Amino acid sequence: MTKKSSRPISVVTGGAGFLGSHLTDRLLEEGHDVIVIDNFITGSPHNLEHLAENIHLKFIRHDVTEYIFVPGPVHYVWHFASPASPIDYLELPIPTLKVGSLGTHNALGLAREKKAAFLLASTSETYGDPLIHPQTEDYWGNVNPVGPRGVYDEAKRFAEAMTMAYHTFHGMDTKIVRIFNTYGPRMRLRDGRVVPTFIGQALTNQSLTIFGDGSQTRSFCYVSDLIDGIYRLMMSEYHHPVNIGNPREMTIKEFGEAILKLIETTSAMEFKPLPIDDPKVRQPDITRAKTILKWEPKIDFEEGIQETIHYFRSKI
Ligand code: NAD
Ligand code: UDP
Repeated sequence: MTKKSSRPISVVTGGAGFLGSHLTDRLLEEGHDVIVIDNFITGSPHNLEHLAENIHLKFIRHDVTEYIFVPGPVHYVWHFASPASPIDYLELPIPTLKVGSLGTHNALGLAREKKAAFLLASTSETYGDPLIHPQTEDYWGNVNPVGPRGVYDEAKRFAEAMTMAYHTFHGMDTKIVRIFNTYGPRMRLRDGRVVPTFIGQALTNQSLTIFGDGSQTRSFCYVSDLIDGIYRLMMSEYHHPVNIGNPREMTIKEFGEAILKLIETTSAMEFKPLPIDDPKVRQPDITRAKTILKWEPKIDFEEGIQETIHYFRSKI
């Protein structure tokens, strides 16, 4: 990275993860210098290896729940560090709570020190098992704080509260994106999320593990669409939470059927118990993103899922 650069400088916490690495690609394309901070707890250096020779990228291996030191100017802090798949955060309950609370505090502190804009990667999980459908940003949610998912949901809710307090109390330029289920290349094959799990199972002729009766719904957004919405949000003047996701909703059983149609396989479906507090429905209302950011998803499910299958074929 050049020392006296006129390029904007971005810090991406969690930049070695699925979304953080795609965000890093986009920022480099936009002409930023990027400093990735990651401790690899769920991410991997492989997600950034295509950028190994890029002089505009710097990597710091660090746990952001500890004080974050970055020398020189910083213009944008993108706080993406956190386990994100239910399997990961069930295995890592305390690191998940710590990165959402202490990690967010440190990342906000870095942004304040540098007079940088700050964006929090929050989640549709702040709505919990929602009682209104589709979910609008003014819905406060239905979260069980002491259930297994509470470690993630409450950490993100705390992170949103902390981010908003830095905006109102310190006058900082902060943004909050509520990300709905996103998929694409660089997800971990075995991260337990439904997209890599079903594709991996179909590619290896194993049964697709449908939890419950498969009537619960999700709405899947392709990663490039999500990153575009997030980039627009950071560059906007808007400080309240914004949903970014694809409103096309389907049941998990329909998703499994789609995978079985698209992949030549001998796999069938196998029904397993529904995990505790698994949300029954999830669909973003994206009116706010459409109005304020002039954003809506462009990649339809059929196209995005083919790209993703293509990626996982190379990983098996
Ligand atoms: P991921 O697990 O692939 O990436 C998270 C990254 O954060 C990993 O590289 C991990 O090593 C790093 N990390 C975790 N704790 C850290 C710590 N204490 N210090 C430094 N690095 C740390 O997950 P993802 O899907 O890329 O999710 C990224 C962000 O987006 C998360 O904050 C997640 O909550 C949010 N999000 C993702 C989705 C989705 O569908 N992918 C949905 C909602 C919200
Ligand atoms: N799911 C499933 N089989 C699996 C993995 C997940 O049926 O092997 C279901 C899960 O119960 C949930 C949905 O798929 O209803 C999406 O799960 P994921 O872990 O991808 O993310 P979530 O939206 O629950 O955070």
